[in-house]
Amino acid sequence: MAERITDIGPPKFDKFLPPVIKENYGKWKYHEILEPGVLVHVSESGAKVFSVRAGSPRLVTTDFVKELCDVADKFCDGYLRFTSRNNVEFLLTDQSKIAGVKDACKKMGVPIGATGHSVSNIVHTQGWVHCHTPAIDASGIVKAVMDDLFEYFGSHKLPAQVRIALACCLNMCGAVHCSDIAILGIHRTPPKVNHDRLRHLCEIPTTIAACPTGAIRPHPDKTLKSVVINEERCMYCGNCYTMCPALPVFDAQKGGVALLVGGKVSNSKTPPMFSKLAVPYLPNNPPRWPEVVQAVRKIINKYAEGANKWERVGEWVERIGWEKFFEVCDIPFTFQHIDDYRWAYDTYRTSMHFKF
Ligand code: SF4
Ligand code: SF4
Repeated sequence: MAERITDIGPPKFDKFLPPVIKENYGKWKYHEILEPGVLVHVSESGAKVFSVRAGSPRLVTTDFVKELCDVADKFCDGYLRFTSRNNVEFLLTDQSKIAGVKDACKKMGVPIGATGHSVSNIVHTQGWVHCHTPAIDASGIVKAVMDDLFEYFGSHKLPAQVRIALACCLNMCGAVHCSDIAILGIHRTPPKVNHDRLRHLCEIPTTIAACPTGAIRPHPDKTLKSVVINEERCMYCGNCYTMCPALPVFDAQKGGVALLVGGKVSNSKTPPMFSKLAVPYLPNNPPRWPEVVQAVRKIINKYAEGANKWERVGEWVERIGWEKFFEVCDIPFTFQHIDDYRWAYDTYRTSMHFKF
């Protein structure tokens, strides 16, 4: 038993903690934001740890990571971490070294910010770079949107923090359901069946079983050894394409972008909230996706104008009412906004109370 290998997953987290964090584990009393991008956490013992938070493009090269590590080696005893939104945090115990970290970041072209009432790094999925079912690119749209909102990254001008996320299909490996503004790639056409390839590439029973709505059936012509898709039942999720590469779902012209708003993970003041559909379709328009950039900017502007201090986007929308939100952001209400999911009864508004 002594030689039994049980810990074969990732190394235990505390192996890499900076000594000051290890020594004060569970004893942190409070934290403050000293300036945009710089935090201090104070322990019951009086120990302090300073964090300088910087942006990253998420998909990074090993050279870039090495450069970040050089900065951490020089000023932070070799300690840094990546936040869940892919910001880089340099962790220091010596306040006098903060200026050195900031200068080094500036030289690398890495912005400092993402604390407090700012727009943090946009968390995003793989997009065209890596995944097989995206309806849109991920990094390209995020770059275009963040370029436009960059003034909010290193400042505290907004009423509260705004978390933006992007998922390039509705399988949604981004935090789309729980972000203030979410950009979601949507397919709008059923998969195209390539009968010649399907019989060689795919197992028909597993392909049929992969469809959550039961839209796939064996082809009536048994000699074809293929499938047919009932377009009425298809919800364009792309799950069958994961099982069977002969069912491509991407359509560059018809796929597009939906925007969802009002999600949050935080349980401060109000419970965590799911985001809801705001804009059902915007065109997939590379290389700079101007329609998406403008729509996100408009929602942010109206939020910045209308929200109370500390109010997250979802809390602002709930306070003024969704009808008013659609009106102020000039978003048309369409049939796609009607929730027809079979468990939707739980989320339906069941009173006659409208707020205008
Ligand atoms: S959101 Fe969809 S397309 Fe994008 S990386 Fe995840 S599974 Fe792939
Ligand atoms: S895209 Fe989704 S709903 Fe449509 S056939 Fe494939 S698995 Fe079924």
